[in-house]
Amino acid sequence: MLVKTVLLLFFVSFGVCDPSVVIIGAGASGIAAATRLLKNGITNITILEAEDRIGGRVYSVRFADGVVDLGAEWCHGDKDNIVYDMVKDLNILQHAQQFYPEIYHSKFKRLDQDFSNALVDTFNKLIGESKKSVSVGERLIARYEQAIVQWKNDPSVYALAREAITFFEVYVIGNKGAFSWFDVADDDDYSEGNLLFHWNGHGYKTILDLLMQKYPGESKSLPIDDKVLLNKEVHQITWGSKQAVIKCTDGSNYAADHVIVTVSLGVLKHQHHTLFQPKLPSDKVQAIEQLGIAAVHKVILRFPQRWWNDSYTGTSFLWDKDDIKHISFGEGPVKDGVSWLTSVSVLLPVEHNPNVIEAWFVGHFVPEVERCPDEVVINGVMYLLDYFGMVVAETTTRPDAIIRNNWYTNPHFRGTYSFQTPRTRRGQYSDEVILSEPLGYNAQKPNLLFAGEASSPTHYSKVHGAIEAGFREADRIIKMYK
Ligand SMILES: Cc1cc2nc3c(=O)[nH]c(=O)nc-3n(C[C@H](O)[C@H](O)[C@H](O)COP(=O)(O)OP(=O)(O)OC[C@H]3O[C@@H](n4cnc5c(N)ncnc54)[C@H](O)[C@@H]3O)c2cc1C
Repeated sequence: MLVKTVLLLFFVSFGVCDPSVVIIGAGASGIAAATRLLKNGITNITILEAEDRIGGRVYSVRFADGVVDLGAEWCHGDKDNIVYDMVKDLNILQHAQQFYPEIYHSKFKRLDQDFSNALVDTFNKLIGESKKSVSVGERLIARYEQAIVQWKNDPSVYALAREAITFFEVYVIGNKGAFSWFDVADDDDYSEGNLLFHWNGHGYKTILDLLMQKYPGESKSLPIDDKVLLNKEVHQITWGSKQAVIKCTDGSNYAADHVIVTVSLGVLKHQHHTLFQPKLPSDKVQAIEQLGIAAVHKVILRFPQRWWNDSYTGTSFLWDKDDIKHISFGEGPVKDGVSWLTSVSVLLPVEHNPNVIEAWFVGHFVPEVERCPDEVVINGVMYLLDYFGMVVAETTTRPDAIIRNNWYTNPHFRGTYSFQTPRTRRGQYSDEVILSEPLGYNAQKPNLLFAGEASSPTHYSKVHGAIEAGFREADRIIKMYK
């Protein structure tokens, strides 16, 4: 192994084989691929990034008294997780609490915590019994009555438990980033370990610094900054002959022996028919079309004064079915008589940022909420706090700062994270596997390769899936020159 690596470094350094590689996208996947190539002596790399920053959906910024993550926030799972493995001995990650939110009801206000916890346990049990080829929505609706039979003897509690199905619907669409729970495969290929971690106030971008060897010190950093070209939106990749040609919207062209495409599934869905010349084969197109991506909208708010205490783990909202139709809040979008405010799934405190709360908007209102002015969003959240009885008179002051990112309406993302739909796994291979297959006129040295979170067979949707996929495609190129 060592001999092979030394030989590769030798050949590369003497120009015997110095493949040129263009990576499209400087998100976690693109950065991971570049670092892997560089460490293996492949240095003729260009990373074309459409935005004016690196990181993609990893986007940590300073806000209020600390750092907030507009995109990825938690490291999901301690098993088979490349992010966890990279940082576990560095004392950076901190175990996040199991999420048992306070549930507030639009009529009854704060629900008894034991009842709330029992509801969440019931739901977790239900989720664990997944079934092939149906949607989560179909199966949970079919199973729900039976799952809440424990409360049948108490009519008022039973009625409340029945209503809580909408609460679970909102949870599922937020977790999967879908617009409807009928779009989400019930039995999917995603797997993760049990534990959840946050970045202890440093932000998820720490992983990019680690990949680029800028953390903890910069002395051994890899020259990624020299390889990245920002504000370079690619609009066509011609891949049918030996060298691929990449055209950008600013008129610049790049030739490469290999292209690694890391753009999101949302971008691929929207652009595959014009982005690739020749067009992608039908199985690839089908995979892109069958996989799912929609969005959540995370709104981060700074309150001048905290109205929550240190033990606060967050609030979820349960709407009485009559209240849903009778919200008198006059601003923002309304569909079929239902206000956008019903799309807030949860409020969460932000670790190491004492005055900050994040509100998650989920479901089909997200594109419109992204377009709402900040003032309207703040007014809406304040109305919600009041409506659900969470306002504690003078202590609940209005937020004085807000930050959010429009992942769905930004053409460089068109969604937050991918999910499997019931159609995704009907064939022998999952659509992620089909998406990850390389293409090119030379089967031994394919020139069009696909990375990005949506191409990870079991860790799609997450940063660790994106990094794995970037490494996978870099390794594919490295092997071609051994
Ligand atoms: C709100 C939110 C919350 C999330 N929470 C978590 C979480 O807690 N934990 C977790 O693990 N994951 C989370 N994720 C998902 C995670 O962020 C992504 O899975 C991961 O960052 C994807 O990385 P990527 O490199 O595959 O794609 P991206 O980060 O999307 O990188 C692709 C890059 O390609 C660029 N690009 C697009 N089109 C073009 C073009 N035409 N030309 C050139 N460049 C282009 C984009 O600008 C982008 O920088 C979250 C995501 C969001 C948005």
